[in-house]
Amino acid sequence: MAVVPGMTELTAPYWEAAREGRLVIQECRSCGQLSHPPLPACPRCHGRDLGWREVSGTGTVYTYTLVRHPTHFAFADQIPYAIALVELAEGPWLITGITGCPPDEVRAGMPVRAVFREVTDGVTLPYFEPAP
Ligand code: ZN
Repeated sequence: MAVVPGMTELTAPYWEAAREGRLVIQECRSCGQLSHPPLPACPRCHGRDLGWREVSGTGTVYTYTLVRHPTHFAFADQIPYAIALVELAEGPWLITGITGCPPDEVRAGMPVRAVFREVTDGVTLPYFEPAP
């Protein structure tokens, strides 16, 4: 069984882009602020003219944790796994799973890039893996 995030009107463009293998971040068209997760108004200028910008998908692990006890039974067959706070090259941070290397090899400062994993029919999650 897969546990997938809920999709709202506010977050739908993020998940639709992920299905296409693209990482997008909400952008304020008034001041250029990038916000993740998306918000109903810009946290910098309070503007409501919000759009989406495709970002590079590259970033750096700021910090991480190794999950050794599943937080939900659906993740029981995946432990241990690494969850990281990744700082994107464009500035925003996002919380994500790290794949493509053993969990105990994840390090703060590690360069990473987005990869996309279809977890259920119609739901694709962005993960990050070590960048070459
Ligand atoms: Zn703004």
